Amino acid sequence: MNRTMKKDDATTAVYGSKEMLQPAPTERIPQHKTTPEIAYQMVKDETYAQTQPRLNLATFVTTYMDEYATRLMNEAIGVNYIDETEYPRIAVMCGRCINIIANLWNTPEKGEWKSGALGIGSSEACMLGGVAAWLRWRNRRKAQGKPYDKPNLVMSTAFQVVWEKFCQLWQIEMRTVPLSLECPTLDPEKALAACDENTICIVPIAGVTWTGLNDDIEALDKALDAYNKKTGYDIPIHVDAASGGFILPFINPEKRWDFRLKWVLSISTSGHKYGLVYPGLGWVVWKDKKYLPDEMSFSVNYLGANITQVGLNFSRPAAQILGQYYNFIRYGYEGYCEVQQNSMEIARYCHEQIGKMKCFRNYSEQVENPLFIWYMCPEYDKKAKWTLYDLQATLQQSGWMVPAYTMPKDIDHLVVMRVVVRQGMSRDMADMLLGDIRNAVEQFEKLEYPTQSRIHYEKQQHQKGKVFTH
Ligand SMILES: *Cc1c(COP(=O)(O)O)cnc(C)c1O
Repeated sequence: MNRTMKKDDATTAVYGSKEMLQPAPTERIPQHKTTPEIAYQMVKDETYAQTQPRLNLATFVTTYMDEYATRLMNEAIGVNYIDETEYPRIAVMCGRCINIIANLWNTPEKGEWKSGALGIGSSEACMLGGVAAWLRWRNRRKAQGKPYDKPNLVMSTAFQVVWEKFCQLWQIEMRTVPLSLECPTLDPEKALAACDENTICIVPIAGVTWTGLNDDIEALDKALDAYNKKTGYDIPIHVDAASGGFILPFINPEKRWDFRLKWVLSISTSGHKYGLVYPGLGWVVWKDKKYLPDEMSFSVNYLGANITQVGLNFSRPAAQILGQYYNFIRYGYEGYCEVQQNSMEIARYCHEQIGKMKCFRNYSEQVENPLFIWYMCPEYDKKAKWTLYDLQATLQQSGWMVPAYTMPKDIDHLVVMRVVVRQGMSRDMADMLLGDIRNAVEQFEKLEYPTQSRIHYEKQQHQKGKVFTH
């Protein structure tokens, strides 16, 4: 008989067990067994003190799905997507999702199955879009008998970290275009000035992570068309639409940012952001099969049939595909419009209320996606005894996660705060958040001495030549 069962057995209450008196394992696998009830409770309790996911306004990722979606996904929790021969209907469903997304983005491709792939998130989808652009460029250079050892990619400094990873891992030179307060998105002329014969693609962003704004992709496409004509290059566009890919088709279908534009050859998005699916799901779509290089399709024959796969991962959970397909059926175009519209309205409401507070200034007048950033009014900042980092910490005490951070290179003197509104945030919750912000500011204004974070901030700003009046 197992010694450890001497005291605890299946009838022992979870908190009456001696396991609950032991520290949790941190180095080695425990020698003995424990009951599932106790193991469950120990793991659950580890996460107990974490923020409520829906109060986390820092993330873009889905924190609410309805009960049927949750049931469907839980029922598929053991399904491996890659076993296409075992679960052929899931592969079909995945193809249907790609078709639906490709059509939301106005693909001109006529075939029964549009060209695309799924990923674990936008990160994998961006990598696949980037690799395809690099291989196309390389193949063309080879065919022309030209060197192909110095590829580069052009985008704004407000890139998401995945592009840094892509450029680092594939050894592609990253050329960034700085932003300014006057020009807060990618300037097409500056982007073209950074291009040359070795540019594999330009990557504008729909739903910039740092600001919530959209790069002007139509203007970029137009300028690029003239540039390609003049130079004889064929530089394409990959749109990183991690957020915008599921916002623009519903909120602003007239806006031309997608495959309607000549040089947009691939687009990536996160199914687990405004696609409204729990993590991890991303999608990439090419304008036509001919833009997806053959070298990226791999055949495997050991799963019971010959299957072709495009992706960095092999095994991956299938539940998210069911969730995405369920959402398409459940919401339809109309339902997605309503959900995204509500998120937009609540974001605009918060934006307006924050803009009315004398201590804050919104980064931009427009709210193009359901998120926005603001900073401390320069006049107020000169005499404040607190910073947005203090506000972040105070809000955290009531469970909110609202991040403060410095902007990218060249405007990194600016500390901003961001709210991402997603499905699951109601007007009532927005009012609670705004109330907590107002209360916090009221308390900060009673401060006699500057906070630690203020002292640190002023020291840094002094070095950049800024003067404070207190
Ligand atoms: C979130 C995001 C990514 C990365 O997406 P994941 O789905 O988290 O992998 C890439 N680009 C942009 C613009 C993003 O907002």
